[in-house]
Amino acid sequence: YGPDDGILVTDGLTKRFGGLVAVDDLSFAVQEQEILGFIGPNGAGKSTTFNCITGVYPPSDGTVWYRGEDVTGTPFHEMVAGGMARTFQSFRPLEDRTVVENVQISLVPNKLFSTSGLRGGTRARAVELCERVGLGESMHKMPDALPHADMIRLEMGRAMATDPDLLLVDEPFAGLAGQEVEGLSKLMTELRDDGMTLVVVDHNMRGLLSLIDRAIVINFGSKIAEGTPDEIRNDKTVQEAYLGS
Ligand code: ADP
Ligand code: MG
Repeated sequence: YGPDDGILVTDGLTKRFGGLVAVDDLSFAVQEQEILGFIGPNGAGKSTTFNCITGVYPPSDGTVWYRGEDVTGTPFHEMVAGGMARTFQSFRPLEDRTVVENVQISLVPNKLFSTSGLRGGTRARAVELCERVGLGESMHKMPDALPHADMIRLEMGRAMATDPDLLLVDEPFAGLAGQEVEGLSKLMTELRDDGMTLVVVDHNMRGLLSLIDRAIVINFGSKIAEGTPDEIRNDKTVQEAYLGS
């Protein structure tokens, strides 16, 4: 894999924690305006891969390219300024701020002004984002009053406040009921249709396969399969990795 194979490309990405190899020589490419599923059992190395891509941890080995540029080990805030955003699996909002204030705090002024002009300042943009992620009715609530599904939407709104063109979403479906999975999938599909690229992590394939364009499956830090939802569904190695889980 090389710099021009996709909007985001890793080659030989490796992360060791002492003797544990959490991400093991992982190479993959994300294509512009696709929803890529990033699937693997618990502990497979999904979050660690996100952490290496977004500069939370420096990788032990390997290269990360974003829009053709080598961004290996680049700090998170620089990646965000370049158009990448992510959600966190263990997201904690500011508890003493309303939903809309939580989104507003994440707005990056220079990006806001360059992409949407001075349209009434950051508050109006935060309101717009709350409506975009389906929190229009709840934006004046405190975060602890939100049901879990809306907490995920708040985390999406917070990530979108930086106006990303690539969004990495870490386990949005964990703990959600079927209907909530559908609602959130619909939002992500709309974002893709508006031009965004999304990488969506899940440990359970079932909810994800109807949403995604393509998937990469990892186990023990290594890629074990890659393809369309149908190819993944019928893959023997994938079925074996999920036996008993
Ligand atoms: P996933 O997100 O796929 O469930 P993780 O990337 O969180 O998996 O974890 C992969 C492996 O790396 C696990 O064995 C986990 O315990 C280990 N790990 C993750 N982060 C750290 C860390 N900061 N220090 C030590 N081990 C870690
Ligand atoms: Mg994880």
